[in-house]
Order: sequence, then C-alpha cells, then structure tokens
Amino acid sequence: MPTFTATEIAFLMVACQQAVLALGWAIGAVVVPIDRRSALQWACYALLTGSSVLIFIAASQTRSEELRALANLCVATGIVLMERGVRQFTGRPAPWWPYALLVVGVAGLSWLGLDPGYGALRVAIVSGLVALLCALTAWNIYVYARRDLGLAFGHLLAVPLLLGAMVFATRSARAVVSPYTVVAELAGNSSLNIGSAVVFLVTALVFHLALVALVGMRLMAELRRLSRTDGLTEVFNRRAIEEQLHDEARRAVRSQRPFSVLMIDADYFKGINDRFGHAAGDDALRHLTRIMKAQMRDVDRIGRFGGEEFVAVLPGTAATEALNAAERLRDAVLRRPWAWQGEVLPLTVSIGVAAWRGPQDEVPALLKRADAALYRAKALGRDRFELGS
Ligand code: GH3
Ligand code: MG
Ligand code: MG
Repeated sequence: MPTFTATEIAFLMVACQQAVLALGWAIGAVVVPIDRRSALQWACYALLTGSSVLIFIAASQTRSEELRALANLCVATGIVLMERGVRQFTGRPAPWWPYALLVVGVAGLSWLGLDPGYGALRVAIVSGLVALLCALTAWNIYVYARRDLGLAFGHLLAVPLLLGAMVFATRSARAVVSPYTVVAELAGNSSLNIGSAVVFLVTALVFHLALVALVGMRLMAELRRLSRTDGLTEVFNRRAIEEQLHDEARRAVRSQRPFSVLMIDADYFKGINDRFGHAAGDDALRHLTRIMKAQMRDVDRIGRFGGEEFVAVLPGTAATEALNAAERLRDAVLRRPWAWQGEVLPLTVSIGVAAWRGPQDEVPALLKRADAALYRAKALGRDRFELGS
C-alpha cells in the first residue's frame, strides 16, 4: 500500500474533481440537446487532465521521466480537445488532422524531452503550444459571445482562458530565457507542491465554468430567439415586432430621425386555403416572407402581426421613400410567381403606409393610421398601397 504525502493527496483531489467533471460532460452530451461532439470532447479533456495528475503522482513516486512525459502529453492532448470542442461549438470548421498532427508532435517532443539536454526545449514548446491553444479558445469564445450571441459582456467568458494562456506563456518564456532553472526544477520535482495543486484545481474548475457558461448562454440566446420568432415564417412574431417598433420610436425621438411602417396583408388569402388547403396557405406565407426579406434593407425589421398580415419597420425612412418601398414590395410580390404543386397561382398584397410624425406621435396611433390605410387599399381594389393620414 503506497503512502501519500499531503501534496499527493491534494493532487488526487484534483483528479477526482476532473473525473466528476468528465462524468458531468458525458451526461450533458446525452441530456442537453446541444452539440454532443463538443460535450464529449470536453469530457475527454477532463478525463485526460485528471489522468495526467495521477500519472504525475506515479512519476514522482517512481522518479520516472517516461511517466512525466506521458503526463505532459495527456495535458496537451486534453487542451487540444478542449480547443477543438470550442471551435466546433462555435460553428467553425475543425478538421481532425491538424489536431492529430499537434498531438503526434507533442508526443515526439515529450520523447525528445526524456534526454535532460532537451528538457527545457520540451517545456518551452509544449507550454507555448498550450498557451496558444488557450489564447485561441479565448478568442473563439469572445468572438462567438459578442458576434453570434450578441452579449455585451462576451469578453468576460474569455477571461479565464486568457489567464490560462498567460500562465503557460510565462512558463514557456521562462524555459527559453533561463533553461537551467527550468531543468533544475524538473529534476528537483518542485512542480509537485500544494501551491501548484491548488492552482491546478482552480484553473481547471474555472476553465470548465467558462465552458458551462458558454453552453448556458447559447441555450438562453436560443430560447430568446425562439420566443421572438414566428414559427411558420421565421420572421419576428407580434410581440417582438411591437418591441422593435417601440425601440424605433424611442430612437426617433432621441435622434429626430424619421421612420415609417408598412402594414402588409395578403389579398384573398382565405380563397387559397379554401381551394388548396391549409398547407398551401402556409407555403404561400413563407413565399411572401422570402420576398419581403429580399426586398428589405438590413436595417429594416419585419414581423408577422397575425394571420396573413405583416408589419415592416423602416428606420430612417420618411413618407415618400416609404411609399416607394411599398410600391417595390407590391410589384415584387406580383412578379415573383408562387407555385403550388406545379401550378402557378396569383398572389398579391395590399399595403398601408404610415410615417412617424415626431415626438407628439405614438406607436398605437401610427399603427392605427397604417391599418386604416390598408383598409382603404383593400376597398379601392387590392394589389395597391395607400398612405395613412
Ligand atoms: P382580404 O383580401 O380582404 O385580405 O381577404 P382575405 O381572404 O385575405 O382575408 P380574411 O381575413 O377573410 O382571411 C384571412 C385568411 O388567412 C383566413 C385564415 O384562414 C388565413 N390564415 C391566417 N393565418 C393562417 C396561417 O397561419 N396559415 C394559413 N394557411 N392560413 C392562415
Ligand atoms: Mg388578407
Ligand atoms: Mg388579414
């Protein structure tokens, strides 16, 4: 029965922690319907880090350089898998072969490092590589949180990994600048102390927390998107487009910038459902939204207000330009044929246009004018637009 020093017990606890985290990610891969590949790679990362700790203990007990090299290889491979998991999670391409090459390279270096003359070189390259991978992961997380999830505090998620990158970069730099001290440390086994166990424990935990936060943020962003999107047409739903409208009204008051709304309603839509069935009606609605999205500028917002009725918010657009936009849209719908089961069917829209009148105006009044204009367009024969007054 081997006896363990307090330091070794501390490291054993780190290994237990990593085992629990690996189990957590493995369960997460099955239970949480989000990126199984990433969760499994993070489970392997935890498993490899945990194993590396156990191997380090064995290496210190047996004074074996081979085991120490193997432990190093485990840490580097774990970090490689963590980076690849984040890359895939954030939707970037991550072919397996550069990663495989990296691992083979690290294995080769660790083998080289068995010769004490190359010990410092090994530490410099492997630590540098790990630092680079941590920095890359931090960057990926930062860009993903800021750009894809639109989180204002996206940079906070990247901080732990950036700190990790700095720790490894410092170790790499030390091995370059003063290789003899690093070699002496390796020989003296000074990397195994309670302090380093605590640093290891905290770093590993914080890395995992950053990954958990990343998954949580994405789930929240997805829920938010779903709660604001119309399931059939994938444009904003009524609540979301009303929010956009109120936001735009506030902006217009602040910046004294014009904006307009279009209220767009498909003509004789009930007839489509009655003649061809509900599936045809649904398809016609998707066809209409595709045209509307293609016609609108990036800054314009479009939402399904209910049934076959849509509202478009046009920022920075006064009445005259809004009338032009309405005409372009009406014309585009008329010209882009909608086909159902091989048959080309006529589809037109009527549009009510209303322009914001300044700070004394209000969103309900604006919508009321657009609605009255739409009603007039219908009464005057459909496939046309009218300006609300
Ligand atoms: P108008 O030219 O006056 O607008 O006539 P209309 O037939 O388009 O208007 P009406 O309000 O009489 O009928 C709207 C129809 O839109 C009734 C409803 O069955 C259909 N509709 C509303 N939502 C959906 C939907 O999500 N899918 C399908 N297929 N039909 C829908
Ligand atoms: Mg209609
Ligand atoms: Mg309608």
